[in-house]
Amino acid sequence: MYIHIPFCPSKCHYCDFASFSGRSHDVPRYLSALLRELNNTFNAHFQTFPGNTLFIGGGTPTVLSVEQWRFLLEGLKKYFIFSSEGEATVECNPESSSLEKFDLFLAHGINRLSVGLQSTEDCFLKALGRVHDFARFQKTFEWAGAAGFRNINIDLIYGMPGQTLRMWQESLKRVLEFSPEHVSVYPLTVEDNTVFGKRGVRVDGDLQADMFEAADSVLCAAGFVHYEISNFCRPGYECRHNLKYWRNEDCLGAGVSAAWYIDGIRRKNTENLDDYLSAVKQGESPVIEETVLSGPERAGENIMLALRLKEGKQLSSDEWHLFGHVVEHFANKGFLLHRSENHHIRPTLKGWRLSNQLFQELLSENSNTSYQ
Ligand code: SF4
Repeated sequence: MYIHIPFCPSKCHYCDFASFSGRSHDVPRYLSALLRELNNTFNAHFQTFPGNTLFIGGGTPTVLSVEQWRFLLEGLKKYFIFSSEGEATVECNPESSSLEKFDLFLAHGINRLSVGLQSTEDCFLKALGRVHDFARFQKTFEWAGAAGFRNINIDLIYGMPGQTLRMWQESLKRVLEFSPEHVSVYPLTVEDNTVFGKRGVRVDGDLQADMFEAADSVLCAAGFVHYEISNFCRPGYECRHNLKYWRNEDCLGAGVSAAWYIDGIRRKNTENLDDYLSAVKQGESPVIEETVLSGPERAGENIMLALRLKEGKQLSSDEWHLFGHVVEHFANKGFLLHRSENHHIRPTLKGWRLSNQLFQELLSENSNTSYQ
């Protein structure tokens, strides 16, 4: 189950997510709407929901006050069984994290934190429009440990204008000093509708590809497993929630912009906060898109997602029938490995490094494939 908290103290310069600043007065109404939406969804679709992973992301979930968190976590107990066998993550930003919130999370069954550090250097944090500095991150990490969290992710962005390969390698080493269980690394992307987009900021794709390989070298040398294109973990600490997305398994979502996928139907909630609040208040669904995937579409998606994962995937006979020629094409280019005896595919580092090309070509092959 994914829960979206769309509030942020301000908008970061690269942010293209559904997040709103200056709307903190709407938080109480929003939390009530979230629980109401979940109630409606459960009544419509499930007797019980057998979910064992929860991810509360945003936005900046930690902008909620301790009281607001208590209200949300108590309310969620009706829909999610918090247990030590399950995984329940909260995304935290340093400026709004506190020991008191972390104590409350742990007491309510949250057992994983994902901390948005983004950069170890204050000059880049400022350039990104983030509101925390590195010292505040250090404090946040200390609080997480003091509260008792033993499964913590650190999020990083690379390839910012002015960042050199050397600076990036140093950043990775600095992060390793905290001994996190998980590290996520994302290249900076610039969308037109962001502050960076309007300023005409450009990224250097070749340098970002070198930085991607540097992350692989530095983190794997430190004992991490590069298990997904952007994600590294200590053995056994994969993010179980995100694995479900990458394995194209069912997942329920709630909140503004939440996307969910049940029984081959993909649904997407409105990205407009006011529309969301009024739809739920009137007992209506906030879903604005519903797509029933055809067999070939689902097969194409399965392959795209599988190539994000180091484990790859064994293709079914239908998947091979539809996409065998595409798989062979990319295997010949060295983008993936294909075991012909069982049609198991998995990506190579080259495929990941050139993933833009790989996924774009796959998408166009997918749309060109004729399904007789
Ligand atoms: S904290 Fe995240 S969601 Fe909020 S504005 Fe920054 S990038 Fe966007």
